[in-house]
Amino acid sequence: MQLSRRQFMKVTGSTLAGSSLALMGFSPATALAEVRQYKLAAATVTRQTCTYCSVGCGLLMYSLGDGAKNVRSSLIHVEGDPDHPVNRGTLCPKGASLMDIVHSPNRLMYPEYRAPGSNEWKRMSWPEALDRIAKLLKADRDANFIEATDDGKKVNRWISTGMLAASASSNEAGYITHKVARSWGLLAFDNQARV
Ligand code: SF4
Repeated sequence: MQLSRRQFMKVTGSTLAGSSLALMGFSPATALAEVRQYKLAAATVTRQTCTYCSVGCGLLMYSLGDGAKNVRSSLIHVEGDPDHPVNRGTLCPKGASLMDIVHSPNRLMYPEYRAPGSNEWKRMSWPEALDRIAKLLKADRDANFIEATDDGKKVNRWISTGMLAASASSNEAGYITHKVARSWGLLAFDNQARV
């Protein structure tokens, strides 16, 4: 016997037959839960942190496909991590829609560069981008680093460049990022958590 969920609800809402059907194992709730488990059973689960805001909720990301199956891995489901101390399995609407970011055709997948005066963005590799950033940082720091104020007070600061980091990092990553920025003498250093 094939019943859609809607048909089932009509039957169970109006007649006693519904209770008999449920006893026979036709409960749609059970069926849906089993389909979901079956779908996720073969998936690879990856723990991650939500990228959106400074709350830093923990995620479970389920993907299907891998090298052995000769299928490109693709994300199929995202949910809150019940073991994560920040969110205990919950997600706000933004976090719950993270699948849309991952699969969005507008998602930025690689570094791009727009030359001064140009209106065109050009793709570049990560090594090219990182080399360029490092060279520009060094040139600017060499030219603008301030060791001392005019009256001789030691300051060791670099105020012509700023750094925007991500707040959805682990304590350790945040600590190291902070140390690097401050060791350069950067004062303008922030993230979306504003801490
Ligand atoms: S799920 Fe919502 S509250 Fe949690 S980190 Fe993402 S955006 Fe912030």
